[in-house]
Amino acid sequence: MAEVNLRCACGTVQGKISSSSSKIGTRIICCCNDCQAFAYFLRQKENILDQYGGTDIFQIPMSFLTITEGKSQIACVRLSSKGLYRWHTSCCNTPIGNTFGGGGSFIGVIHNFMDNTETRDADLGKSRGYVFSQFATPPVPQPLKASSIKINFRMVTKILTWKLKGFSKPSAFFNNIGEPICEPQVLEKKHPKI
Ligand SMILES: [Zn+2]
Ligand SMILES: [Zn+2]
Repeated sequence: MAEVNLRCACGTVQGKISSSSSKIGTRIICCCNDCQAFAYFLRQKENILDQYGGTDIFQIPMSFLTITEGKSQIACVRLSSKGLYRWHTSCCNTPIGNTFGGGGSFIGVIHNFMDNTETRDADLGKSRGYVFSQFATPPVPQPLKASSIKINFRMVTKILTWKLKGFSKPSAFFNNIGEPICEPQVLEKKHPKI
C-alpha cells in the first residue's frame, strides 16, 4: 500500500492519500460529458483530458484524503444544481476531484492533483478501462473499455461499504454537519463542451 502525495500545479494546495492500492480504490477513465465540461470550465483540457477526451480518476474513501496546505485556495463548481461537487484549486485551476454532497463516502481524485506521475501504476494499479465511452471522441477501441456491469457493481459495492465503515468522515471538503467548506458555484446552464 502506498501513500500518495497530492499537489496542485503551482504547489499552493497540497495533501495526501493515506493509503492507496488497486484493491482499495477504483481507477477508471471517464469520458462523460460532465467530466469533459469540467476540464473545459477550468480551461485545462490539454492537461486533463487524454486523446479520447477521458479523465483518469481514482475513486477512494473520502476520509483517506487530507489537505495539508492551501485549504483557502479550494473552490467548487457544480454543472447543475443536482450535479456532483467538482473541486478544484483557485490558485492554478488544478482539478482535485468529484464528490457527492455532505456525507458522501467517496472522492474521485483526478490525476492532475496526484504527485506521482512516475509511480502511478504501481500506487493505484492500472486503469480498469474507459467508462461512458459513448461520449468519447474519437471512439475508444473496444479492448480499452471497462465492462460496465463489472465496474458499476464494483463502484456501488465499494461506495456502500465505505459508507457503512464510516469513511465519509472526516472529509476535507465538508464539515461535520455536511456543509461544503466553500460555496459551490452552480452553473445553471450546461457549460458548452466545445
Ligand atoms: Zn495551485
Ligand atoms: Zn465523468
